[in-house]
Amino acid sequence: MILVFCETRDGRIRKPSLEALSEARRLADESGKVLGALLVGASCAGAEEAAQYGADAILKIEAPSLAAYSSDGYAQAVADAVQAKGATVLLAAATSLGRDVAPRVAARLGAGYASDVTALAMADGRLQVSRPVYAGKAVATTSFETAIQVATTRPNVFVATPCAKAGAVEALPAPAGGFLAVVKEILAKGTGHVDIAEADVIVAGGRGMKDGANFKVLEELAEALGGVVGASRAAVDAGWGLPHSMQIGQTGKVVSPTLYIACGISGAIQHVAGMSGSKVIVAINKDPEAPIFKLATYGIVGDLFEVVPELTKAAKAMGLGK
Ligand SMILES: Cc1cc2nc3c(=O)[nH]c(=O)nc-3n(C[C@H](O)[C@H](O)[C@H](O)COP(=O)(O)OP(=O)(O)OC[C@H]3O[C@@H](n4cnc5c(N)ncnc54)[C@H](O)[C@@H]3O)c2cc1C
Repeated sequence: MILVFCETRDGRIRKPSLEALSEARRLADESGKVLGALLVGASCAGAEEAAQYGADAILKIEAPSLAAYSSDGYAQAVADAVQAKGATVLLAAATSLGRDVAPRVAARLGAGYASDVTALAMADGRLQVSRPVYAGKAVATTSFETAIQVATTRPNVFVATPCAKAGAVEALPAPAGGFLAVVKEILAKGTGHVDIAEADVIVAGGRGMKDGANFKVLEELAEALGGVVGASRAAVDAGWGLPHSMQIGQTGKVVSPTLYIACGISGAIQHVAGMSGSKVIVAINKDPEAPIFKLATYGIVGDLFEVVPELTKAAKAMGLGK
């Protein structure tokens, strides 16, 4: 069996998990394996959605003790499910939660682990993955020597494709409580907030923004495009009040949106490591020699404080954010 750990939020399976599920469906078809979707929580409402994205079986582990995320509780639950079903491949989305739980599961099972993969294949029933290494300068193709193979998939790289399957639901026993770590409280930034790692459109600002207050112009463009705002490390470190969760790059988040607009960002290798997987890159910089232009699909040499409001006006006129 190929098992996909699916994260839920507000009774729905999260998009990066649906992407992993769709990719796993392709692998299951390629290798003749059964595809299982695993949900863990107090009550796994919305689990049936997994069948719409190709799950032959839906496995639920429900217990009040699993209502809030617990690193060791969830890791135990997922590891138990892998063993109970004899799964040889476990996938999870490389979200904050997926990156936390998947290596713990791998450690518990003595399984090989590959993080943040951008391509998957099955060869003779075994998993092969590709993942960017050396700050995105090279791509490593990795196979596993262990019987159980665990990998996390980078959000926004694979496409969530509806594919209706039976999705027979089965409840599995939950691990006993008494977990060592439990999330007590989640302070959400606001309703409708999308994590930049999962966003489809990102408008990012760098040191060229000159001040945190100037990010307002980026927010307006992001809103007009239905996107979110990110930042370079220089902007985050400048003391402008931008949180580290906005930082894109080697020591920030790795993003792969459909559209990335870099405003006043020079394109240092450590920044590029976090956004080179973007499908379309637009760079706005007043220095025609800025390295970001080497990477950009479209480059605009100009003052961002003139260019960005013009783009916002055009995006609004075209109704792009709707
Ligand atoms: C170990 C390590 C890890 C790092 N991790 C990260 C990371 O995760 N993410 C990251 O981003 N960086 C990271 N860095 C820092 C990185 O090396 C760069 O210093 C940083 O990315 C530079 O940010 P920037 O492009 O915003 O600033 P700068 O390099 O200063 O570029 C600012 C740009 O704005 C342009 N500009 C100025 N005014 C305007 C204007 N009005 N209109 C248009 N353009 C304008 C300038 O021409 C310039 O190109 C890391 C560094 C190290 C050593």
